Amino acid sequence: MIRFHNTLSGKVEAFEPVAPGLVKLYTCGPTVYDFPHIGNWRAYVFEDLLKRFLIFSGYKVTHVMNLTDVDDKTIRGAKAKGVGLEEYTRPFIEAFKKDLETLNILPADHYPRATGHIQEMVDIIKVLLEKGFAYKKDGSIYFAIAKFPAYGRLSKFNLEDLRPGSRGDADEYEKESVHDFALWKAPKEGEPVWETEIGPGRPGWHIECSAMSSKYLGRTFDIHCGGVDNIFPHHENEIAQSEAASGVKFVNFWLHCHHLVVDGEKMAKSKGNFYTLEDILSKGYDPREVRFLLLSTHYRKMLNFTFEALEQAKAARQRIGNFLGELKDVTNGTAETAEVLPLIETAREGFVTGLEDDLNISESMAVIFSLIKSLNPLLSRGEVSKSAAQKVLDLFSSLDEVLAIKPSPIRSASGKIAALTGVSATGAVGTVVKKQPSDMPNRLDSEIQERIEARQKARADKDFALADAIRKELLAEGILLEDTKDSVRWKKIVLPRT
Ligand SMILES: [Zn+2]
Repeated sequence: MIRFHNTLSGKVEAFEPVAPGLVKLYTCGPTVYDFPHIGNWRAYVFEDLLKRFLIFSGYKVTHVMNLTDVDDKTIRGAKAKGVGLEEYTRPFIEAFKKDLETLNILPADHYPRATGHIQEMVDIIKVLLEKGFAYKKDGSIYFAIAKFPAYGRLSKFNLEDLRPGSRGDADEYEKESVHDFALWKAPKEGEPVWETEIGPGRPGWHIECSAMSSKYLGRTFDIHCGGVDNIFPHHENEIAQSEAASGVKFVNFWLHCHHLVVDGEKMAKSKGNFYTLEDILSKGYDPREVRFLLLSTHYRKMLNFTFEALEQAKAARQRIGNFLGELKDVTNGTAETAEVLPLIETAREGFVTGLEDDLNISESMAVIFSLIKSLNPLLSRGEVSKSAAQKVLDLFSSLDEVLAIKPSPIRSASGKIAALTGVSATGAVGTVVKKQPSDMPNRLDSEIQERIEARQKARADKDFALADAIRKELLAEGILLEDTKDSVRWKKIVLPRT
């Protein structure tokens, strides 16, 4: 049974969609006034994990993500550049869609733009005026929060904080200044204007999500996502507008993802710690390494982005690639599948159980690495049959429908682990060996992997002396490293006696 933490109740609840088998999902999309930063991508990757897991669990998902192309920020940006909104936002929309694809994020069913849904917004505002939840003032229309007693339920603030009658026009504001918010803004010099039944002007930010979600998903739908900074005022205002107009519950489950910080600090252009996806990829990282890092911290925890953490994600992914390579290389292992099959089943179950528990990704990833750890010794002893190896490969393909981070299997050149066949290393290798393997402690696979990662890091840091020293140190223990295009493979070799 799938359970999610619902911001509305503050509790973890069993998930049940309104219509059996169908999940209606709305995720707040980007305000297309700039390129998204990795903090934004964290939210979109989390939403993709959620969506992919729902699909994996057998649900059909209808997903809507809006594009905010008219608000304070886009208007300011277009004005500064002296162009229209359409021209100003177009390159940001295109870049956003390209990055979605780069990060392996499944496309939404609809990407409605605010400027294409002005009539739908006007229709809701008309109802709010008729029902007495909204009022006109100086050509603008405001939502009267005092008329909606449930106001503040999502963001959990004291109703005494409400200051009915005070108004604000800004799209975004702090909790401390909670006030009646603008549904429709009177025309202003230099701002776009729509001539409508409720008068000339342009919409506020919040009304667009109420209008576009109900158009594509209906008045009540299952899940609404965003970052924690959307809770107030944006989502609080969406609930107020939608429920006041429709008279029915707006959304059953609210899922919010926590902030991303960089090196423990809030990201800011002024601090030089502000990254777009492009900034990171230009340093030579694979997009799936970035995706892996962004989804590997539970969505309700703060994610601290560091390049060290990205290196770890890269190494972990490489470990999976190495493992898949070993599986592909299996030709005719000796053992029957009896030992392997239960391990596969346990891993599949553990992976699913983890994600069912409010998307506990850490638990699910731990299960995967524990499977790798259990199978590695069997693989190196040749005790995994070809059909069992295929079953493990199938498992990884299936789990990757959720994770979408799978590396290509890293194949070994020889196709066989040398230690098994007793093949000795080449003379050239032997000449640099000073010690015999029997003198050395038997390293665990995980330790070898750690040393390889240390060498990779040294190479990335251009510390070639250290990298070479690590290679030689491992070789002295009978562990031969092979650099392939994407990765490093290692094999145990029998060293010649000196
Ligand atoms: Zn929104």
